[in-house]
Amino acid sequence: MSEIAKEPSMLLQKELIARNYDAITSSRETGRKVSSTFVPGNLNELLMCFGIINNLPEINAVQNGMRKLSGDYIIDAEKSGHSEDVCTYVKADIGMMGRGNIAPNGKPFPAPDVLLLSYTGCYTFMKWFELLRAEYKCPTLMLHVPYEGDGHSTQNMRDYIVKQLKEVIIPGLEQVSGVKFDIDLLRQYLRNSAKAEDDLVWVLEQGKHKPSPIDAYFGGVYYIGPIFTAFRGTTDAIDYYRALRTEVLGRIDNHQGPVTPEGTNFNDQKYRLVVEGPPNWTSFREFWKMFYDEGAIVVASSYTKVGGMYDLGFRHDPDHPLESLADYCLGCYTNRNLPTRVDILAKYIEEYQADGLLINSIKSCNSFSAGQLMIMKEVEKRTGKPGAFIETDLVDPRYFSAANVKNRLESYFQMIEQKRQGSSRAA
Ligand code: SF4
Repeated sequence: MSEIAKEPSMLLQKELIARNYDAITSSRETGRKVSSTFVPGNLNELLMCFGIINNLPEINAVQNGMRKLSGDYIIDAEKSGHSEDVCTYVKADIGMMGRGNIAPNGKPFPAPDVLLLSYTGCYTFMKWFELLRAEYKCPTLMLHVPYEGDGHSTQNMRDYIVKQLKEVIIPGLEQVSGVKFDIDLLRQYLRNSAKAEDDLVWVLEQGKHKPSPIDAYFGGVYYIGPIFTAFRGTTDAIDYYRALRTEVLGRIDNHQGPVTPEGTNFNDQKYRLVVEGPPNWTSFREFWKMFYDEGAIVVASSYTKVGGMYDLGFRHDPDHPLESLADYCLGCYTNRNLPTRVDILAKYIEEYQADGLLINSIKSCNSFSAGQLMIMKEVEKRTGKPGAFIETDLVDPRYFSAANVKNRLESYFQMIEQKRQGSSRAA
């Protein structure tokens, strides 16, 4: 396939991510400490207060998936005893370690100085870090984030997280880094975060336009890159989201859709979809093409909310720094119960005037997949819009069947068409 065409902001995003990989792989020369941590509920601003670099194993697995390396890594991990049902991000990570632990810049990852487990909603994260802890034998700091089982957080939950931050996480990071915690520095970083979050929300909400100037799933994964990884809290993230906003505004002014990987603006949008679940990474471009070839644009998605539900109003708050970190962790999408996810998706269908809900059910991700059929039926019932279900995997190429996915998508678009004709006849 030819080189993928990218929007200018995508190139900027790529440069930021590359810069973080360089910081990680040169950490032994620069003397900086490295933390492994996860995307949902990450404490990037806090790590920055200690000068610690953020390395995210999920993002490494995504990179390996897109570079077509993950398939072999997963097979290696299975040969060493990890079951077929284990999350393929975990197996891609474990397999990579057995083959030199090479970062996307071609240099080896250093062993982490600390494992910071501030995960939200997915038990796999804990098992994953148990494996890494056995391998690296470095200090492990665990921030336990209570699940929002009743659909909301409570003051007790918030206090519980703040107490752990004060008594476990901050002293632990001080010890690893040798740097004294400065709450005013945290406030400054959180102020930066809130600015970038404002612009990210603005961008994602432009999916309400017709034609939509963004693809909120395939394009969306690029847009969330800096803020969900190592750049939330930095001025780089503020600059990135300002530039992205300007770029999207330019498309709105010209009534243009997003740029497809083939380099043309996707203006002829026939179907507007809300998508639930992570994308497939090993055939990302092929998967995306199946949508724009049929005129389907994604106007909102749940995956672009795994690292924070800013569109529901949350912002990091410099006036309540630790409490705001607690609220952030509690509110990530994967920490929300199923009825809340139904509410969110039904709201997206209405507000973004979507034609329906498409679920990409990921074979090995229990955190997303559990309850998705119920979610689909509930959303259909509430909105009257048809839903559909496809099945792929994150980074295991064995579970991306292009023909099956394409067939299902085509039938779904026909179903939307029939539903439209039915409603215009009735009217
Ligand atoms: S099971 Fe899903 S949410 Fe959990 S680590 Fe794997 S991909 Fe992430």
